[in-house]
Amino acid sequence: MPRRSISDNLAPMHIQFCGANRTVTGSCHLLHVNGLRIFLDMGLYQGPRDEARRLNQYLPDHARTADAIVLSHGHLDHCGKLPVVVREGYAGPIYCTPATAEVARIVLEDSAEIQLEDADYINRRSRQPGQAPVQPLYRPSDIPHVLKLFKRVEYNRTIDLGKGVRFTFHDAGHILGSAYVLLQWDVPAANPGQPTTRSLLFTADVGRYNTPILNDPAPIPVLPDLVLTESTYGDKTHAPMDGVEQQFLDAVQFCVKNRSRLLIPAFAVGRTQTVLWYIQKFIHENKIPTIPVFVDSPMGVQVSRIHEDFPQYFDKQTTAMIAGKDLFGLTRITFATSMEQSKAINTVTGPCVIIASSPTCEFGRILHHLKFSMERPNDLLIFVGWTPPNTLGRRLQDGQNRARIFDRWYDVRCQIRTIHGLSAHADGDELIRFLTPTLRPQTTFFVVHGEAGVADTFAQRLSKSGVHRIGVPAMETVTFQTPH
Ligand SMILES: [Zn+2]
Ligand SMILES: [Zn+2]
Repeated sequence: MPRRSISDNLAPMHIQFCGANRTVTGSCHLLHVNGLRIFLDMGLYQGPRDEARRLNQYLPDHARTADAIVLSHGHLDHCGKLPVVVREGYAGPIYCTPATAEVARIVLEDSAEIQLEDADYINRRSRQPGQAPVQPLYRPSDIPHVLKLFKRVEYNRTIDLGKGVRFTFHDAGHILGSAYVLLQWDVPAANPGQPTTRSLLFTADVGRYNTPILNDPAPIPVLPDLVLTESTYGDKTHAPMDGVEQQFLDAVQFCVKNRSRLLIPAFAVGRTQTVLWYIQKFIHENKIPTIPVFVDSPMGVQVSRIHEDFPQYFDKQTTAMIAGKDLFGLTRITFATSMEQSKAINTVTGPCVIIASSPTCEFGRILHHLKFSMERPNDLLIFVGWTPPNTLGRRLQDGQNRARIFDRWYDVRCQIRTIHGLSAHADGDELIRFLTPTLRPQTTFFVVHGEAGVADTFAQRLSKSGVHRIGVPAMETVTFQTPH
């Protein structure tokens, strides 16, 4: 791994960038500070199969013997490699918020099943006679060993890691339990009167302002010397949140009026709960009658239930709306956990709302519902987020008039709409708003968790905002020494 130094002074600390460098997945950074080795995140790389297998089997140096892992949130690209490091011998603490421990458990259990299916698929499709079978990256039996290492830490509580190093989680407003990390460490004074503490801000994934359910990202309480910032949408401006509610309402009212089906392909963590929240709000406000709602995703079901265990994390509007009651209407929703329950939904003609994964429409239970609705002119398919290129979801969004699902072609007669503005990630303006106090010449920035061009664009924006020292690291080790 290449090494470079970005300044020249006392109290060096090294950062080994091990993932989410010039890409958005596989978040993982190793800090060497005051003799401790601390990982920030241990995420899975998600991408083309061969590359993903190679990168996900790679273990950073010292992974087995690190002193701590600090986990920002439960998305797979931040926690998905934990079972690999634990199986290979890591036995130290994994710090995370209590809600992240629950979300990560569900996400990892689901991921282990997918790893099994994936290995099975490869062995069936491309294994040569006499060749050893491909092993899954990890199995469901690996997950309990990870869960045993979780140490639950509430927001704003400082944890002493020893050797003068400590950290605090603060609410990042991205998904339930998500945190940004403020890490501080003591250094010897170079001269009398000089500061003897250094600090690092790891933004992980930053949420948005004024979104339903979650709080806004908490203001940064300490001015850091060093910032590792995400840049996922650093070059974009999201559609405003204001129009989202009305677009949703129009869609549900259309289905009520036409007694048709509203299909929403959505991620299980975060987006499914936002959709449920809007529907519950419309019912509360008597804008729609109580109509059947189906969540056809075992993970979506589990994550929705977990939200109810953490009402202390909700924003004021949500807390006032539910007043301790049924946040997502879970008592009335039909949750399909088994395949039989999923198939039964196909006989329901409407009005109804069906939420299922995956947004790509390439796999998952949404496909069965799409088949049924594709040629029904009054059924409505709504996309509530970004859809990757070269997927069925994107082609439908782009207006393709025929679609192949499983074994046959369908005419696309249903209505298709996209509701923009529901991202869980801050856009460029929101990132700058969040980072504002840190935008000063003495702060050093590393831009991570963004595609190469996007990270560079965001770095340029930082430089126009008063930051002088900015790096967009590749997989490399950088030595950081505070300037005076
Ligand atoms: Zn995330
Ligand atoms: Zn992420």
